Amino acid sequence: MSDLFELYQELILDHNKSPRNRRKLDCPCKSAEGYNPLCGDRVTVFVKVKDGIVEEVTFEGTGCAISTASASLMTQCLKGVKVEEAKQLFEKFHSLVMGDAEKSDEGPELGKLAVFSGVCRFPARVKCATLAWHTVNEALDEEGDKVVSSE
Ligand code: ZN
Repeated sequence: MSDLFELYQELILDHNKSPRNRRKLDCPCKSAEGYNPLCGDRVTVFVKVKDGIVEEVTFEGTGCAISTASASLMTQCLKGVKVEEAKQLFEKFHSLVMGDAEKSDEGPELGKLAVFSGVCRFPARVKCATLAWHTVNEALDEEGDKVVSSE
């Protein structure tokens, strides 16, 4: 049981209880939907990119504590970050929760995201933690550069 307590650290509980940036984003923006059938987590991620920088990122969805907290923390970490860095963070976060520590030394700092390091000991929860990240990755891969903005 102590492992589970460790997994649900305070930060995760806090973000699950009051998720940050949980709202729909006004267009123009890119979005993608993610679904984790193993747990039933659903998430839609909205991203606004300008000049190669993630200006805004929000999410909507329902899921377990891990998936909600992960999405919430992700939106905080990606705001103001270059698209390139966002992709690196995704790779790094993925390595972290997969327990693939070797790769984790390169690229941008994970910061608060490190709270999810315990997830690698719970393979069934890895998809919960990475769902929002896979989804934002997909959204960023959309033909973003061509989004027309009247501003
Ligand atoms: Zn889940």
